[in-house]
Amino acid sequence: MGYGSLTKEIFEELASAVGRAAAIIDADALENYAYDQAGRVWGHMPEAVVRPRNTEQVSSVMKIASKYRIPVTPRGAGSGLNGGAVPLAGGVVLSLERMNKILEIDKINRVAVVEPGVVTNDLCRAAAAEGFLYAGYPMSTETSFIGGNFATNAGGGKVIRYGSTRRHVLGAEVVLASGEILHLGGRFRKDTWGYSLLNLLAGSEGTLAIATKLIVNLEPKPGKVVNLLACYPDVEKLVESVAKVIGSGRRIISCEFMDRNLVKYTTEYLGCALPEQERSEGYLLIQVEGDTDEQLEEGYETVGKICLEGGAFEVFVAESRTDSAAMWNVRQNGLEGMRARDPYACASGDLMVPLSAVPEMLRRIKRISGEWNVEIGIISHIGDGNLHPIPLKPEGMTPERWASYAEEFFSALINEAISLGGVGSGEHGVGHVKQKVLTENKTPAELEIMRGIKKAFDPQNILNPGKMFFKLQ
Ligand SMILES: Cc1cc2nc3c(=O)[nH]c(=O)nc-3n(C[C@H](O)[C@H](O)[C@H](O)COP(=O)(O)OP(=O)(O)OC[C@H]3O[C@@H](n4cnc5c(N)ncnc54)[C@H](O)[C@@H]3O)c2cc1C
Repeated sequence: MGYGSLTKEIFEELASAVGRAAAIIDADALENYAYDQAGRVWGHMPEAVVRPRNTEQVSSVMKIASKYRIPVTPRGAGSGLNGGAVPLAGGVVLSLERMNKILEIDKINRVAVVEPGVVTNDLCRAAAAEGFLYAGYPMSTETSFIGGNFATNAGGGKVIRYGSTRRHVLGAEVVLASGEILHLGGRFRKDTWGYSLLNLLAGSEGTLAIATKLIVNLEPKPGKVVNLLACYPDVEKLVESVAKVIGSGRRIISCEFMDRNLVKYTTEYLGCALPEQERSEGYLLIQVEGDTDEQLEEGYETVGKICLEGGAFEVFVAESRTDSAAMWNVRQNGLEGMRARDPYACASGDLMVPLSAVPEMLRRIKRISGEWNVEIGIISHIGDGNLHPIPLKPEGMTPERWASYAEEFFSALINEAISLGGVGSGEHGVGHVKQKVLTENKTPAELEIMRGIKKAFDPQNILNPGKMFFKLQ
């Protein structure tokens, strides 16, 4: 059975559920909801967009969609890197952008209660203002929404210390495909009250339910931190240092890697320079924490020594906030830097391997990009074993050919990551860009269970169809 078509009458029903001004059907305005940060070549136009203001409106939209079997694609900020928020089957995009309130900072239970359209960094700032830390820190923190972070189980630059978003979300209000509203978890940190649907929904990419409210953990205020930038003449040596830094027992908050190409294009884009750029093949950006000045000093001196003994020719310690911001600016703008070089630079690469396999994975990335004649820059949460190779479109290749070429290139890399004991995504998810290679790499038994789960949540397959394991119809 196919999907229903979105007639004028159905659009009117949707518009009366969310308010006329919050329902969009104009083609120019729809265009903004047709693609995400994977790039326009992976986009697809919706037939309508609705922008509900509250949970009841989300529920009403889903009841209408369910009655007529209209596909619905939930959308946060659209910063995803795999086409997750792209409405592959047309239908309706349900944008959470107007549900953007921080409802409560509850100090007694050490949680924040937020709507899904809150920008991640706004939550970080609000928590800090009350003396807490919200520990989610994707590099898109200034644009991505907390609901999108939950739906993708976003990671980022502080995962070694605090874990991914799944660990930060203690409770959620969600709307099912049928429009029914569920409350999962709560303002507590232990829950063995049946299967954890909350954990299952984290990372389900809008294919099972729509998050309309989240209860997130707040950490106690962190200690003092210092940022170090270590410059290496050789990437193999750099990687050897990573294991020693992580194994040093010091409080490492971040351990990030940028290769020569990425730094070159990003500093050109930003109009700045990193130290020793002519000689460096790669950089490690390491953040160390300590409760006291003495502990902090001991921590960063130990880490600096490890890097120098491991072959770094220089280790710079940021002495001011300005120094730290300059180091992180290059890291956070890595994708923009590659896109300034080539607008088709594709950021879907998200290989995840055990830390011990990182040297071999980097060798294989180099070999395979040579075989595929693709220039790449690499950015990485290397302390987690999470590598983001960003390929540029070969000159002369059409954008349409590039879309399938890049998918095949990533599949080749993912197969190598899997052969080294890893997986094809550590934090960005699957979307539709990696659907084929995911499905090829799961056993029939796993696929059967996943499809059973989908059926239990969304029997008509109307929630974000065509993503992860699930076909359009
Ligand atoms: C420059 C840059 C740097 C990045 N760095 C990182 C990083 O360090 N770590 C990392 O993990 N990611 C990173 N990302 C990827 C991206 O920012 C994350 O995946 C983020 O979590 C997506 O949030 P969003 O609000 O933009 O979601 P969207 O892109 O809008 O949606 C992503 C998926 O979530 C679903 N979804 C969104 N909101 C909801 C909801 N309320 N309920 C149910 N489903 C929903 C969508 O259907 C889609 O499948 C980066 C992206 C960019 C552009």
